[in-house]
Amino acid sequence: MKRLSETKVQKINSTHNTIIELNDVHFGEGYFTVFAGPCALESEEIVLKTARAVEHLGAKVFRCSLFKPRTSPYTYQGYGIDGVNLLQMLHSETNLLLETEVLSTDHLETLAYEADILRIGSRNMDNYELLKAVGKTNKPVILKRNMSATLEEFLLAAEYILSVGNDKVILCERGIRTFENYTRNTLDILAVPALKELTHLPVIVDPSHSTGKRSLVASASKAAMAAGADGLLIEVHPEPLRSYSDGQQSIDIQEFEKLMKDLTVLAKALDKNFSVPVLS
Ligand code: PEP
Ligand code: MN
Repeated sequence: MKRLSETKVQKINSTHNTIIELNDVHFGEGYFTVFAGPCALESEEIVLKTARAVEHLGAKVFRCSLFKPRTSPYTYQGYGIDGVNLLQMLHSETNLLLETEVLSTDHLETLAYEADILRIGSRNMDNYELLKAVGKTNKPVILKRNMSATLEEFLLAAEYILSVGNDKVILCERGIRTFENYTRNTLDILAVPALKELTHLPVIVDPSHSTGKRSLVASASKAAMAAGADGLLIEVHPEPLRSYSDGQQSIDIQEFEKLMKDLTVLAKALDKNFSVPVLS
């Protein structure tokens, strides 16, 4: 394993691979775990429909934001904290693990109690007080790379969480800003093997925000698996064009089914531990 400067980084240099295990679901080297769901929590009907479908098709974690950091203040800002009632309903109706974004420390205690996995979005990657706060919880944390962060900055942000005692960090490559603007961001695919050689932490890819285009999500997902990612964080919505946020990059249930089938085939070729019994 390559090493970053010892003076800056103490916890991410390690000789073992971190495998996080929650309710028999594994995150890390040797596993490929899919997190899927709508960009934002919209209604009981949509979350339940999406959750049942993605669970049936092999997703292990339901992604769903109660709070949305939107570029414009005039667009949907999220369902808000009352959405925890819907998280409780999903816990009783499905076996999915639930993940959600923590935007500030205001709701951290409640979200850490109700959700299984916390997410720090790209805009908060360098909100160090928030990183330390999630580092003091005992919940796994998905840390998304800031769109302008170098890998070293990304890893030092992870170090903020690790350094206060939480070693359950999942790194997420979600695309970076480049001069190319056909895609919403540029998926830095080599960040995956680079991060895998620099750290012991699980590395996943977000093919939705990195492309911004539904037509490119499957290609980005397969590239991520081929590059050695340990999983995907994908936006899925039963009717993407009616979704309150990020509909243009959300795939529908049929597209998700096709992708999971293709990933099952690719996983076999790559000797990866991934299969979806209902599709195999
Ligand atoms: C998200 O995953 O809901 C999200 C807002 O993505 P990002 O933080 O990568 O922009
Ligand atoms: Mn989104």
